[in-house]
Order: sequence, then C-alpha cells, then structure tokens
Amino acid sequence: MRDRHILRTLSYTTLMLCLSLSLMAEQPLSGKVIGTETSVDYTTYAQSRTVNTREMAFDGDMETCFASWERSYTWCGLDLTTPHVITRVGWAARNDGLGPNRMVLGVFEGANNADFSDALPLFIITEPAKIGAMTYADITVSRSFRYVRYVGPSDARCNVAELEFYGYAGSGSDKQLYQLTNLPTVSIKTEDMQEPYDKVHDINAFITIISEDGQQLLQAEGAVRLRGNASMEFPKKPYRLKFNKKQKVLTAPAKAKKWVLINNYGDKTLMRNLVAFDYSRRLGMDYTPYCQPVDVLLNGEYKGCYQLADQLDVREHRVDIDEMTPQDNSGVALTGGYFIEIDGYADREPEQARFYSARQHIGVTIKSPDEDSITAVQKSYIQSFFNQMEARVMSNDYTDPQNGWRSRLDEDSWLRHFLIGELTGNTDTYWSCHMYKRRGEDMLYTGPEWDFDIAFDNDYRQYPTCQKSDYVYVSAGTHATFVSRIIKQDPATAGSLLRLWSEARHNGITEEQVCSLIDSIADELQRSQELNFKRWPILSQDVHMNPRHAGSYQGEVSFLKDYVRKRIAWMDRKIGYTPSDAEQLSSTTTINYAEKVDVYTISGVPMAEQVDLFSLNLPQGVYIIRQQTHSQKIVVSR
Ligand code: CA
Repeated sequence: MRDRHILRTLSYTTLMLCLSLSLMAEQPLSGKVIGTETSVDYTTYAQSRTVNTREMAFDGDMETCFASWERSYTWCGLDLTTPHVITRVGWAARNDGLGPNRMVLGVFEGANNADFSDALPLFIITEPAKIGAMTYADITVSRSFRYVRYVGPSDARCNVAELEFYGYAGSGSDKQLYQLTNLPTVSIKTEDMQEPYDKVHDINAFITIISEDGQQLLQAEGAVRLRGNASMEFPKKPYRLKFNKKQKVLTAPAKAKKWVLINNYGDKTLMRNLVAFDYSRRLGMDYTPYCQPVDVLLNGEYKGCYQLADQLDVREHRVDIDEMTPQDNSGVALTGGYFIEIDGYADREPEQARFYSARQHIGVTIKSPDEDSITAVQKSYIQSFFNQMEARVMSNDYTDPQNGWRSRLDEDSWLRHFLIGELTGNTDTYWSCHMYKRRGEDMLYTGPEWDFDIAFDNDYRQYPTCQKSDYVYVSAGTHATFVSRIIKQDPATAGSLLRLWSEARHNGITEEQVCSLIDSIADELQRSQELNFKRWPILSQDVHMNPRHAGSYQGEVSFLKDYVRKRIAWMDRKIGYTPSDAEQLSSTTTINYAEKVDVYTISGVPMAEQVDLFSLNLPQGVYIIRQQTHSQKIVVSR
C-alpha cells in the first residue's frame, strides 16, 4: 500500500514537473539577432538596412518581415550566447500572395561556429507556410547549439514574417540528429558561402553527412568543386567532394578523399545509374562503383536528391591496380597500372593526359597516372599499347590467339560492357568507356561502368530504342566501325555473347527481378523525390535529352520498367537466347486468382494442376503459377 502511495505521489510530482516545463517551454528563446545584413525595400526595390531587416523576423509582428537584398543563400537567426538543445521551431510567412510558397524548402539549422560551418540541419519546411499564424515543428536533434538560423530557399529573399526557436540550455549529445528524409543528408558549407563554379578550382568546405536514421555523423574538412561535362550545365549542379584526409563514407567499401555527387537532372527516375550498376554486378564486372541516393544541402540551401558515388580512381575497392609513380619509366614498372577512358570530351583534357588513336582517331583520356604526375615515357607507353590493341581489332586476324584482338583486349569484360550498353540502351557507351591495364600483363580490361542518365530510353536521338532492329551503337555512331569489327565481323563473338548473356539471365537479369528492384528503389526515394521535384519542377517538361515526360515521378518509373521489360526480350531475340521453360513461365502477365491455377516449382516441375491457390497449403518458398498462357512467380511466406 505504501509503495503504491509513493508511486502515486511521484507520478503527481512528475506530472506537475512536466506541466511546468511545458509552460516554461512556451516562451521562445531570445538572443541577439544575426543574419544577412542587407535587405530590400519593396516600395523602391532598393537595397536597405532599415526596412525589412532581419530583426523584423523576431519582432512579434506578423505584418513585418525580413526580406534580404540577395535572392538566395540568405538567412536570419539568433545567437543564444550559450548552447541550447532546440525542441521546437516556428515560422510564419510574409503577408503577401507569394509569401507562403516562399518558405517551402526553407531550412532550419543549428551551429556552434558563428559562421555556421559546423551547422547541422534541424528541419526542412515542405509545405506552404501560413500567413498571420505560426506553424510549428518539433525538433528531435539532441546536440546543443549556440547559434540557430533559418535559411530561405533559393530565389526567395529569405522572406519570413516571424521565427521562433524553443528549447533549453544544456550540453546535449549526438545521439539523435536530423535527416531531411529517410536518405542520408549531405550538407556542404563552403568558405564565405562561395558557390562552386568550375571543375578546376576547389573551394574549402566543411562536409557533414548524417545517416542511419540520424544516428551516424561524419563531419570533416575538405573542398568542393563542380564536376561532369554535359551535366555541369544544368541548373542542378553536380559536385565533387574532396576530404582533406581519406574517409570511409556511408557504407562504401573504399577509404578515399574523393567522392562525387551525381545530379541526375535529366534522369527523372533518379535511379538509372542504380539499375545499371545492378546490371554491372550481375554481369560480373570486376568492380561496380558505390552509389547511394542522398539529399544535398549547400550552405543551408536544399539542392535536391543526388547520388553519392565513388570517384573513379585507382585504389583498393575502386580500380584496384598498381598506382604508378613518376619513377616508373622502365622495365615491368612501366607496364602499369594505367586507368584510361575512351572519352568524347578528350579534347577538353590537358595535352599530357590525352591522345588520339592511330587508326580510328579515338580520343582517350589518361586518368591514372594523373595529368600532374604522368611522364612522357608513360604516356608514350600506354598510347602505343592502345594503338596495338586497336590495330588488332581492325585487322581481320580474328581468331589467332597470338595476334588477334583477344590477345590485347580482354574479351569478356569488353563484351560485358557492350551488353550493359545495349541492355540499358546507352548512347554514351563509347563516348565514355573506361579501361585499365595491370602491371606486367599485356591486356586491356574494360570497366568500370559509369553514367547512365540518358540510357533506358531517355535520349530522343535513340528513342524508342526497342523498335530498332539493330544495336544502339550502330546509330549512336561513335566508334561504330571499331565496335562492329568485334560484334559483327568476328565470327566467334556471337558464341561469346550468348554465353555471357545466358550467365546474366541466370544471375538475376530477369524482368521480374529488375522491376522489383526498381519498385523498391522508388519506395526508398519516395520522400526524397517529392522534395527534389519541388526544388526542380520539371516533371511536365523535357529537359536534357528527354524524348518524352510522364508528368509524375511514378509515371517516369513506369516508363523505366516498361523499357526494361521490352529490352530484356529484345536482347534475348537479338542474341538468340531462348529462356528455359522456368524462365518463360516466370514472364509476368495477369492471373485471375479466383480461378483455378497450375502450380510449378521454381525450376518448372509441375506440383498441382487446376487447383484453388488459396486452399492449397503450400510450404514456404517460391513457386510459379500458370493459368492458360499466363504465368507468374509467387513467394509464399509464413
Ligand atoms: Ca515580424
């Protein structure tokens, strides 16, 4: 009895404590107002320091607002003078027709450096704000911050009528941090908020990556610059990150300084690389780049859904060959490793890092050794090796094991690259084709696979890919003569293609597996794609090489699945591959489950004929069911 009484007293005390805490928490935190200094006077559209200033976001008046002079990367917040754990933020829109939408994708951040270099995100606004009333969001970030701020979205002049921060003084912890969505959040803070502007000049940056549902944090110094070729011209920019020290990043196997953020602007499924990399693994390429979808913030501004991927360079868990030094100029040391790229943009590379082949004038960029360390002897060696390989491909001496092309160009990796290029319908397949040469071996290998944003029927020059009777490389033109020598004129190639394609078909390149992969990626990207297409509202227009648009993310995903289905069948026909009975059975169509079905094991052995599937007590496992000419694979789980 006594214990129960104590318990009751305790809970009463706890209740009162909670009540008083929540009453206390009703007071927003106060501090010194900080933020972008210059504002705009909307009556004159002149720069001002007295009208619409940052203080007006904290004056308790819904009719006054902050409006910065610059249109983007502007902010306002508070210096709380001591660290506080933030529990809630509130905001209200400028009283103007556009005000509510001008807060969508605005970001709250907390920091302990006055320049916000170490800032962590607290919250992103995803819906239009209210006018004349606060909207609140609970914050679960456990770290404490001296500085808190709101960064306006792009092109919104940081318009905001009122801001409130709630919380309590304390030292906090890193137990729980915030990700914009279920995907990892990558937040880049550049020195003096400079915008990366080209692919040569690195800008010092502080890089933050939050993952594992806000439980994992990587914060390190490094640099950022733009990257890519065509993709660099889009409004959504691709970035290259370079840490000062080698880092393990997310679940990537490599420990490296350089990583890339792929922008996927023209690829509205945001997943073409991911599907192609699955093909690469299933086709047994030596190495497939690490690639993880993430959300990106740059200086507090939301940039969209990206892919964080390996930079293609020479190291363990990437292109794993010997790395050359400038001393490697003779003997076996001179023979490798070299990492090169058949490169449609070779003319943009420095002279010492590029060459053109002797016969077909194929542009080649030497990626490793890099432009700063390669010696003239090394360049000359790899150039003449490439020419030797090319000469053998262009000769008619196809089958000679000593002098045929197979003695200089590894057949399997080259044909796998070909198959991935054709399966994805990638017109870039020979505009960019990576190869490497190991030390002490007279052979060029093809790989890794890279860059599929205009593949999978996303290039108007090629669309609709599956209605063409010939391979993509023929109409894509680049180096078609070279490729034709191997694919069409060498009589031994057809058998090799059939062998590699059968392996791939048995290793999960099936309509069913790929479509289910696409569905699961779409689920994973659901929240991120919603934000991405708020930032980049391009779903109803053609961008880059788009041949068409679906008007919705799900529609784009359907286009992709439709292409994948048609293309696998197209490749089967072209290569002369006949799926086994079991595979034929698993090609999906519609089944009416109310009607009787035939049941087969996964390998096609009949189990039951004309039965009601639901009355059949099947053990756990995978089965094929058939109804007239329709068949489908099913998974029974208990
Ligand atoms: Ca105000």
